[in-house]
Order: sequence, then structure tokens, then C-alpha cells
Amino acid sequence: MSDESQELGITESKSHKPGEWYAEVVQKANLADYAPMGGFIVTKPRGYALWEGIQDALDGWFKETGVDNVYFPLFIPESFLEREKDVVEGFDPEVAWVTQGGHEELEERLAVRPTSESIIAPFMADWVRSHRDLPLRLNQWCSVVRWEATETKPFFRTKEFMWQEGHTAHASDEGAWDEVWTRLGQYEDLYEDVLAIPVLRGKKPEHDKFPGADTTTTVEALMPDGKSVQGGTSHNLGQSFAEAFDITFADEDEEERTAYTTSWGVSWRAIGALIMTHSDDQGLVLPPTIAPTQVAIVPIWQEDTKEDVLEYSENIADELEDAGFRVELDDRDERNPGFKFNEHELNGVPLRLEIGPYEVEDEEVTMVHRPDNEESVEDRDEIVESVDEHLDEIYDKLYETAEENLEENIREAHSPEEILGTIGKHGGYVKTPWCGDEACEEAIKEKIAAEIVMQPLEDVGGHSSGEVPEPEHDECGVCGDPADEIAYFAKSY
Ligand SMILES: [Zn+2]
Repeated sequence: MSDESQELGITESKSHKPGEWYAEVVQKANLADYAPMGGFIVTKPRGYALWEGIQDALDGWFKETGVDNVYFPLFIPESFLEREKDVVEGFDPEVAWVTQGGHEELEERLAVRPTSESIIAPFMADWVRSHRDLPLRLNQWCSVVRWEATETKPFFRTKEFMWQEGHTAHASDEGAWDEVWTRLGQYEDLYEDVLAIPVLRGKKPEHDKFPGADTTTTVEALMPDGKSVQGGTSHNLGQSFAEAFDITFADEDEEERTAYTTSWGVSWRAIGALIMTHSDDQGLVLPPTIAPTQVAIVPIWQEDTKEDVLEYSENIADELEDAGFRVELDDRDERNPGFKFNEHELNGVPLRLEIGPYEVEDEEVTMVHRPDNEESVEDRDEIVESVDEHLDEIYDKLYETAEENLEENIREAHSPEEILGTIGKHGGYVKTPWCGDEACEEAIKEKIAAEIVMQPLEDVGGHSSGEVPEPEHDECGVCGDPADEIAYFAKSY
């Protein structure tokens, strides 16, 4: 390895220093940089491409299921946020305010949106007149600002972050629940079918739901360091927002009724979970579904073989591109193959094709999987089929590893000592019967900074009932009082 390639590579260890390792992968794989203001990042092309991959998947599914995209202003008048206070305590301490425009002091302060319920709901009230206007399903792709004073962690903790926020209104409670499950299911699909991350589906405990919501449902992903990531949330807001903002409609019987609303969102934290789940001490690892480059072709030549090797490689690149793969032919003259291998590894290209004079002569191609360096030689003739198969295999490997991590790290505990000991030793999720009292969560949180990240939901014929199933034991794992719920404790991002 040359000095240059060492500098290119990752120096921190994922298992020993996950925080430092993560920061190094983000920077060296060219995903993001730190902005001059604390708490903000600059998303670089390769990082933004990951966000676009997530957008493409979700946006397509949203549109197939009746959602229209809109865009509301970045600023929200203070009086609008005040109106929301009937429903929620709100985001007060986290709100950034604009008080001056040009040289003029503003008559009314403008909030930089921390979320857009309070500006979207009044317009929904205006747009919904009759039952024929329902359901109304709106989504916007935007960024929001929450002025939290915590250490910056790209894609996990930044004051401004990219997300989508969906806002819907329905004629019935049942319609709102259907919506909540549809979106939660799409978030589950995003993680499991695009990001190769298995998730747990559940709801937040009463004291931790979205302010003003009836129910907050969530998908949670377990990171290899034993912490949980809230992957996306889908809220049933009941009628509280509709009442506060007068979202009413004339029903079929001409009666004026109050609508039921939902909101749901996924942020670029999904990118953080993606990096954290699959990447290793060589750098970024990406599933082929989302990798900006799926296949890197590295030709290996001497002066006398250069022409043949390059021509053979170009033909393969063309054929793969025509078949729809995202391919990079790395024919740079000034870099040797070893440097190129390291660079594509660092950048998380799932599949590398190595092509030298022997491959040309035997009409073959050497293929190397990024996650584990598994190597095989395939026929040139069947290149499209083999690449397709290898990319699928790589996806499966990544998913299986993450699934093993999840399955091995859900443990049961039945006393505070057992809960604390299990999380302290192994991390992961600890499943315990719970009495429903927030004080029992506090007792654990004080000692080990773990909280109830979710409660499982009863499955009724393949979909959720919205109810938490009864625990097998009936004593709260913390206080010993009668328990009729199950809670999953974990440390979280
Ligand atoms: Zn208890």
C-alpha cells in the first residue's frame, strides 16, 4: 500500500471507536462535510445521491397510493405556532426565529419550520369542504430546523435535516388508521427492501408520542453497536389537530363533521442507519439497491495488453449500462489497480469486476464482492445474468448479517437488575412486561440512558391492530406492579 492509499483509508475501528469511525467514513467516502456553523453539514454529491435513492423509492410508493406533493413556506408566523399550542406543548425551545427582514424589524416573528402541521393544517381546513374532498393526502420534501445543542453527527444529529413530511385528512377514524399502517408499511419496505436493514414495527409509549397525537407508530432498526435508531414514524393525530384548525367537512348526510388527520415522516437519519449498519473498517458498504455506482470495472493492463484489455472492458461496461446497471469503468491512467481497488472499497461499490489479459484471453471476468471479498470467475457471455445474480447475493448477505444482529439481540428480562445488566453487557433490545408508568422508564433511564424505544403491536391476520399484546408474565419488569403491556428498552440514537 502506498502512503497515499493509507491516507485514503479508514484508520479508526468500528468495534472500538464507533463514533470516530462513523465520522471518518462519512468524510473519507465523500458523503458530507461539516459546515462552518456548528450543527450543520454540507451534503456532498455521493451523500446526496443516497438521499435521492431514498426519495425515489418512497416518492414512487407515495404517488401510487394517492399522495400529492406540495411545498409550503420555510417560515411559519408565530401566531400559527401559537394556535397549535391548544394541542401541543410544541417545539418551543428548539425553534429558530427570524426577527428581522432586510433593515426592518418584523412585526411578527417568523419561525423556521420545525415541522409543518401548523401551516399546512389551516390550508387543509380551507381546501376540505365536503366528504368528496377526502381523503386529502399531501407530502412535502424539505428540510426542517430544530435548534438542539448537541454534538453534530452527520445524518443523525444536525440542527437542519432533510426529510419528507406527509399530512393527510380523512372522513373516519378507520380511514386515518389505514393511512397510518400504509405509511408505516412503506417505511418498513424502505428499510427492508432498499436499505437491507430489518426493522421492528411498533408504537411509542404514551408519554413519548408525537405531541398532540393519539398514537405514534415507529419502525426501529438495531445498529451493530447495540443502539436503536428510530427509522420513521407514522402518527395517528385523531381529531385534535382537526379541532384546533377547524378541518371540518359536510358529510353525505349534510352534517358538518370534524376530520381525522395523520402525519408521517422519514428523515435522512435513514442514511445514518445505512452507513452504520453495513460499513466496516475498510470504509463504506452499500447494498446494490441504493449504491450510486453498483459495479466498478477495473482493467489491469501492461503497455502491450492495454488496447485489448480496454476494448474488452469498454464492451462489458456498455453492455451492463444498456441492461440498466449503474457502472463505472475506471480506466484512469494515473492510478494503479491496487489504488483503485481501495478507493472503490472505501466508497462502498458493491461489486468489482477485474479484467486483465487472462480474462480477455479466456473470455471471462473476475468478480469481487465488496462486503467480504468473495471472488469468483464468470463467463463473459453471461455477464448481465451473473452481475444481476451477484448483486442479489450481496444484498442478501448484508440483510442476513443485519438480521442475525437483530435476532441475537432481543433478550427478555424480568427485574430492574436484569434489565440494566443485560443492556449494560450486550446492548440491544430488552423486552419486559411493563405497567405503563413513565416512572419505571425513568428509573432505568437514570441509571443507564436506555429508554422504551417501542412497544410491539398485535398482529391480526398480517396487519397491526394498533394494540400492544398482553405479556406472558404479568408483573412489571421494573416495579413489580401488575403489567398488561410489553416494552422494549434500548439505548438509542
Ligand atoms: Zn412499573
